[in-house]
Amino acid sequence: MARLQPVRGTHDILPEDGRRFRHIVETFRDIAERYGMAEIATPVFEFTEVFKRSLGETTDVVMKEMYTFEDRSGDLITLRPEYTAGIVRAFISGGMHQNLPCKFYAWGPMFRHERPQKGRLRQFHQLDVEVLGAAEPTADIEVLALAWDLLSALGLADKVTLELNSLGDADSRATYRAALVDYFSAHKDRLSRDSLDRLERNPLRILDSKDEGDRAIIASAPLLTDYLNPDSAAFFDAVRAGLDALGIPYTVNPRLVRGLDYYTHTAFEFTTEALGAQGTVLAGGRYDGLVEQLGGPPTPGIGWASGIERLAMLVDDPAPARRPIAVVPLGEAAEREALVLCHRLRRDGFVVDMAYRGNLGKRMKRANKVNARAAVILGDDELTRDAATVRDLDSGEQREVAMADIAAALAPYRQQVA
Ligand code: ATP
Ligand code: MG
Repeated sequence: MARLQPVRGTHDILPEDGRRFRHIVETFRDIAERYGMAEIATPVFEFTEVFKRSLGETTDVVMKEMYTFEDRSGDLITLRPEYTAGIVRAFISGGMHQNLPCKFYAWGPMFRHERPQKGRLRQFHQLDVEVLGAAEPTADIEVLALAWDLLSALGLADKVTLELNSLGDADSRATYRAALVDYFSAHKDRLSRDSLDRLERNPLRILDSKDEGDRAIIASAPLLTDYLNPDSAAFFDAVRAGLDALGIPYTVNPRLVRGLDYYTHTAFEFTTEALGAQGTVLAGGRYDGLVEQLGGPPTPGIGWASGIERLAMLVDDPAPARRPIAVVPLGEAAEREALVLCHRLRRDGFVVDMAYRGNLGKRMKRANKVNARAAVILGDDELTRDAATVRDLDSGEQREVAMADIAAALAPYRQQVA
């Protein structure tokens, strides 16, 4: 039988990566809670309809990337490719519109059938923030500030650029759409097949095309910012003024459109030069029509998502692991005593490692390997005096300590990290 491999585009999070991963999630949690966000988790799979109706039938995600299957009851199910649709579905099915605004944060695995590359996986993980029921630009500013605080706390402030745009309200988009159709129709012969299709169904999406030929035509296309009506322009001004007041740097990118259909007004991406083609680390925007589109009461919303794997490639090695105390019993009576001591120390908050077998040499080797800070050696001799030897493994110094005083003697080693 062939050796079993992880499925293409998936990866194992081994302990080293795990710490980095956890550091990112914990930093995110801490900062999101400072903004009064509450944690939410929705199922990893939903009815396919949830994603089709929210992302839009013509998006790349829906057309090419979803993991969709019929389950044993004949229901059409999709592994979530992103979080927003599921959270909005939960908001509607949970009747949460009674108490607005709702501020949610979430994180977890996402699934997209893409061509795997560095920073582009088929199972990846996202951090996610959504604010539902706030139409004010202050909400946009707040979720952007949260993103900026997170990236700063992860040490990435110098590595990322915030690109900002406004897609305007439905009216502005309708005017703009007409201008786009005129423009692209004049260049029909040079558009890719996908974009010709989009021209019929959703011309805005052409702007997001990655096809080289399309890109050349897009370069001279009309700009959405020139089509914003006064309300939309005022909204965009307010968002920028807020960012200025908070000292959050950004550049306006009038070509920025988001890949999904449900965005209005604010759209943004934090990008980096450090990851090659997979340069977007965090992206989001306002989606005032989405809740209604999914069958809920009209409710504005804004949010973003960030790829944990992409962040992980940028952050320095996070806080190292705490160094354990090695408990080293010598002999059968000592083993029993050691088990109790380990238990006591762990309940006291120490990180404790004990080898399950081996003589002094083997056990000390293990202590070394796990980078123990100190060892507690329990020999028969010491046991008769109800004592043990505490050895500082960095200095080599050691002394005998009464069993009752072990925790106190180990106190200086409690919080030591590598
Ligand atoms: P891209 O243009 O890179 O395909 P996207 O517009 O499809 O990104 P979003 O749907 O906005 O991405 O997802 C938000 C974030 O999730 C991205 O900015 C990125 O950090 C991360 N992300 C998206 N797809 C993947 C993937 N296949 N593998 C790893 N991370 C991903
Ligand atoms: Mg994509």
